[in-house]
Amino acid sequence: MPTTARAFAAFAPTEPLGPHRISRRDPGPRDVAIDIDYCGICHSDIHFLRGDWGPIPYPAVAGHEIIGRVTAVGDEVTRHSVGDTVGVGCMVDSCRTCPSCRESLENYCTGGGSVGTYMGVDRHTGGPTYGGYSSAIVVDEDFVLRIPGHLDPAGAAPLLCAGITTFSPLRHWEVGEGSTVGVVGLGGLGHMGVKLAAAMGAEVVVFTTSPHKVEDARDLGAHDVVISTDEEAMVAQARRFDFILDTVAAPHTLDPYVRSLRRDGTLCLLGAPAEPHPSPAVMPLIAGRRSVAGSLIGGIAETQEMLDFCGRHGITSQVETISMNGINEAHERMLRSDVKYRFVIEMQERERAPAGTVALG
Ligand code: NAP
Ligand code: ZN
Ligand code: ZN
Repeated sequence: MPTTARAFAAFAPTEPLGPHRISRRDPGPRDVAIDIDYCGICHSDIHFLRGDWGPIPYPAVAGHEIIGRVTAVGDEVTRHSVGDTVGVGCMVDSCRTCPSCRESLENYCTGGGSVGTYMGVDRHTGGPTYGGYSSAIVVDEDFVLRIPGHLDPAGAAPLLCAGITTFSPLRHWEVGEGSTVGVVGLGGLGHMGVKLAAAMGAEVVVFTTSPHKVEDARDLGAHDVVISTDEEAMVAQARRFDFILDTVAAPHTLDPYVRSLRRDGTLCLLGAPAEPHPSPAVMPLIAGRRSVAGSLIGGIAETQEMLDFCGRHGITSQVETISMNGINEAHERMLRSDVKYRFVIEMQERERAPAGTVALG
């Protein structure tokens, strides 16, 4: 018998989210059942729930920065045990056989695409997948991550998306000692990009539209901060960077960032706005053999590598914890760039609630 989990769902693109009940499949032989303790709020949740990336079926439950405790495992599960603190990120399954999956790059699965923690079709039930704005989830063990024990679990939740999404391109473009890296946008992804690039030994510069974030940027590890609305300051960045991560969730002109790259530098787009950015000018690309690239989260093996890296360096996200009831306000604040630097939903209310009540409402 499938179990029922409490959740917070969107029922229409523009209406506030509200309490809902969803069904979770019974754990199969390779499944791990998890009680969710924390779930980070990613800007992708907002894009998805509002239909920015195309129409979706409602009710819809977002959330893909999940930390919880294992409550049951299937007979064939070997990597996780009841009681473990574990994580689930943006994917819960993939084809396992395509060239990308065979290279542990399930995020780029070409055998039908990886199954999103939300926005996917459950390979077991054929129904829609529901994310971590909920009290419990059931996931194939291959897509369940080990969390280094000493990391604060609320602060570790955003590593499952914001962490891996910035770690993967930093590694792919070989950022390290001697690199100069720009991070555009100081939100959930951006602040993780700063922490990770600094821990890898790079010189890190933040580009922000929010002057009130300058001090925080330095505290997070940035060596310099540029207010991106200051045209003169932007011109002064010409040819400074080996690599720039652009995390902005809205369309904007890329040209000032392309011009800020050295010869052979790369501007890597992570933000996925509803409308595309205006096309970058051609001449600055040609003139410096510069690249504009993109990157999508990271594979499962690399996600574990990132979590272990964060464990070694004591890196977690700077979070503001909220209850389920605070989620609509959190979404509104993120749309105003008013986030320091990740909202994380705390699910603990269910422990305090008398049996039979809907604690998340
Ligand atoms: P977030 O926490 O809301 O941060 C976005 C930041 O971008 C803001 O804090 C703000 O920083 C800056 N910004 C500037 N102008 C903005 C505007 N008009 N609207 C919104 N933000 C603006 O978002 P996030 O969770 O980091 O996600 C950022 C983007 O990455 C989203 O589009 C999300 O869907 C995408 N994403 C992509 C991947 C991937 O795999 N590629 C994974 C996760 C998320 P300042 O105040 O410093 O200017
Ligand atoms: Zn995300
Ligand atoms: Zn595949």
